[in-house]
Parts: sequence; structure tokens; C-alpha cells
Amino acid sequence: MTRLLLIGPPGAGKGTQAARLSERLAIPAVSTGDIFRDNVRGGTELGVLAKSFMDRGEYVPDSVTNDLVMDRLEAADADSGFLLDGYPRTTDQVRELDEFLAQRGESLDAVVQLTADTDETVSRLLRRAKDQGRSDDTEEVIRHRLDVYAAQTAPLIDVYADRGLVIRVDGLGSMDEVTDRIVDALERRGIGAAAL
Ligand code: AMP
Repeated sequence: MTRLLLIGPPGAGKGTQAARLSERLAIPAVSTGDIFRDNVRGGTELGVLAKSFMDRGEYVPDSVTNDLVMDRLEAADADSGFLLDGYPRTTDQVRELDEFLAQRGESLDAVVQLTADTDETVSRLLRRAKDQGRSDDTEEVIRHRLDVYAAQTAPLIDVYADRGLVIRVDGLGSMDEVTDRIVDALERRGIGAAAL
């Protein structure tokens, strides 16, 4: 059983790495951004609400996001572990996840921090805007998302570092290089070795 978080600024490559790690470690990747985007596409009530925040580069309110993630983590496939991509992003979300895990007698194994400098992340996001047409990838919204990340999410790294959970990995390089770096770092901690 492996329970991991992937944390890092927008454009660090979390989504790409989450999908790859999910396969390598045989655990589901749970991406709040993907769940919100699926709902936007499906035109659900949640999608309409989420879109109003996402398009401005703001976080979807904790009350909504927390319920969504806890429901997802209660699904049977998450019994064998999970990789959370893009959650938690606020101190309230950290508290919610802590309570959820504590109630089940579970805890996190590691928090993978993907690092990338701002110039690189902005240019990656602008490239993605062209390729995928994501409505929150305009230059103005990207800047705001980076500010929101710095103010609300970056401080969470210290919270998890105090618990000795943070594994810092350089997010620059090819997709394969970065995946190998993460897998190696996890292996050194004895995480996921059985499934690799
Ligand atoms: P991402 O794909 O992880 O970059 O997420 C895209 C957008 O979805 C974010 O800019 C937020 O608007 C929203 N979002 C994703 N995860 C969260 C979260 N944990 N809390 C609040 N909003 C989120």
C-alpha cells in the first residue's frame, strides 16, 4: 500500500508524472484538476461551479473540493493506495485529508515535490495553451495561478517537510528522466519497490 502526494507549481509536470507513476506503482492517480475538467466537459452542476473559479485561476472552494476527494478515496480501488495530484492545495485541505486518513488508521508514505523555475513553468503552460486550448492557460491567468500557488500551496511543503515526508525532485528534463528520478527517490525510501 502506497499513499503519495504530488505537489508543485502549475506547469511543473504533475499531471504527466502522476499518470506515469500510477502505472509504475499500480495505484490510482487522483487528480482534482482532471475531475473538475471532466465535470466541466460533462456540463454537470459541479462543472459549472468549478469552471467559474478555474477560468480565473482561483481555487475551487475547500468545502466542494474536500467532499469530492474524500468520496473518491472511499472507492474500492483506492484501498490499495493512491497518488493524489493537485490535492491538498490549502491548509484546510491538509486538515481534511489528515482526518480522513487518521479515521482509517492510515497515513501518507511520501510527498513528492516537483520543482521547476518560474520561467520554465510559464513557457510550458503557454505551450500547453496552444496544444490543448485550456481556458485557464492564458498568460494573465497563468500569472495569477502561480501567485495563488505561492501564497496558498507552497507553504504546505514545510508542513509535510516537518513530518519528514518530502522528497524533492527536479522537474526539469525529459518525461522519462523525471519519472526515473522520482521512482529512484521513492525506491531509496523503500516505497513501491514491490510493484516496480
Ligand atoms: P490543475 O490541473 O491541478 O492545475 O488544476 C486546475 C484548476 O483546478 C486549478 O487552477 C483550480 O482552479 C482547480 N483545482 C484543482 N485542484 C484543486 C484543489 N485541490 N483545490 C482547489 N482547486 C483545485
